[in-house]
Amino acid sequence: MTINVRGYAALAVKEDLVPHNFVRRDPRANDVVIDILYSGVCHSDIHNAWNDWGGATYPMVPGHEIIGRVTHVGADVSAFKVGDHVGVGCMVDSCQHCAPCLQGLEQYCAEGNTLTYNDIDRHDQMPTYGGYSESIVVSDKFVVKVPAGMDLKGAAPLLCAGITTWSPLRHWKVGKGSKVAVVGLGGLGHMALKLAKALGAEVTLFSRTPGKEQDARRLGAQHIVISTDEQQMAAVSNQFDLIIDTVPYVHDLKPYVTTLALNGTLVLVGYLGELDPFLNSAPLVLGRKSVAGSVIGGIAETQEMLDFCGAHGITADVEVISMQEINHAWQRMLKSDVKYRFVIDIASLQA
Ligand code: NAP
Ligand code: ZN
Repeated sequence: MTINVRGYAALAVKEDLVPHNFVRRDPRANDVVIDILYSGVCHSDIHNAWNDWGGATYPMVPGHEIIGRVTHVGADVSAFKVGDHVGVGCMVDSCQHCAPCLQGLEQYCAEGNTLTYNDIDRHDQMPTYGGYSESIVVSDKFVVKVPAGMDLKGAAPLLCAGITTWSPLRHWKVGKGSKVAVVGLGGLGHMALKLAKALGAEVTLFSRTPGKEQDARRLGAQHIVISTDEQQMAAVSNQFDLIIDTVPYVHDLKPYVTTLALNGTLVLVGYLGELDPFLNSAPLVLGRKSVAGSVIGGIAETQEMLDFCGAHGITADVEVISMQEINHAWQRMLKSDVKYRFVIDIASLQA
C-alpha cells in the first residue's frame, strides 16, 4: 500500500513553501491512516522552517494541528474505524515505557517523543512529515477523537494551541477563584482566554497591541492591560496566580513577575531559549514566585481537553485559507495579523 501524498514543504531555510510530493510509510498493524481535512498554522511552523531552534531538516512539511477522517486502520487497531473524525497534534510517537510516558506525559518522554514533522520515526528511521498535506499515517496511541458535532476547522487549532494552554491551566489547578493572566493575543493566547474562562477563572490579557480589547472581552478576558503602559502594569501588581506567557521571542519577564501574587507562577509556553539577563531572583525569593515552562500536553490530556471543549462549545476562532495562501499567511502571522488562527482547507490542494 504505497501512499503518495501532495503537500507543501520548505526546501531550505527561510524560503517560501512550495508544492511537494512525497510517500507516506506503509501502515503498520497499529497505524491509522487519515485523510487530512484541516491543518492549523502554528507560529512553531515558522520557528521550525526558519531553523530558529536549530535541527531543521529539509524538505520540511510543517503542520501539527491536524483534523481528518480515518480511511484505513491496521489489524491491531480497535479504538478507531474508517470514517471517524480524528485529530493529531505535535507528537506521533514516544518510547511508551519511560516514567513520563507511563504517566501519560508523552510530551516529556525521557527518550524524546517523535514530533509530527522535522523528526525521525523511531521504528523505520524515516523522516516525519506534517499536516500541510493530504494524508498522514499515525500510530493509534497518538490519535484522538473529535467530539461529535464539533466544527472541524475550529477544532484543528485545539491540537496544539488548545492543549498547550490547557495543560498548564490543569497542572496549576486553575478553577473558580483563580486569577489568570495571558500574555499575547495570538493563536495560543486566544485559546488560553477561552479555556481559562471556561474553567471559572478571572482572566486578564496582557497585550502590546491596542485595539484588541473588544475581541479579548469576547474571548473571555475581563481585564485588558497594555503591557507597554507602565501605569497600567503598576495597577495590576501582586495579582495573578498563573500567567501564561505566549510571546514567541525573547522579552523582559520582570514586569510580568511583578504582577504575580504570592506563590504565583509565570509559565513560559511561547519563547524557547536564553532568558538572561532578563530575570532577577529578588521578586521570586521575596514572594515565593516561580517562573516555569510547559510543552504541549499528553495524549490522554489532549482527549480530556477536546471533550471539555465539546461539552463547553469551545473551538478556535479561525481564518480558513487555501494551501496556496500559506506564505502570505505566515507573513501575516509574523505581524500578529490573524484572528486568531489560520487553518488550511486541505481540499484546496486538489485545485
Ligand atoms: P502567534 O499567533 O503569532 O501569537 C503570538 C502573540 O504574541 C502575538 O499575537 C502578539 O500578541 C504577541 N507577540 C508577538 N511578538 C511579540 C513580541 N516581539 N513581543 C511581545 N509580544 C509579542 O503565535 P502562537 O502560534 O500563539 O505561538 C506563540 C509561541 O508559542 C510561538 O513561539 C510558538 O512556537 C510557541 N508554541 C509553544 C508550544 C509549547 O508546547 N510550549 C506549542 C505551540 C506553540 P499581542 O499583539 O497581543 O501582544
Ligand atoms: Zn504548534
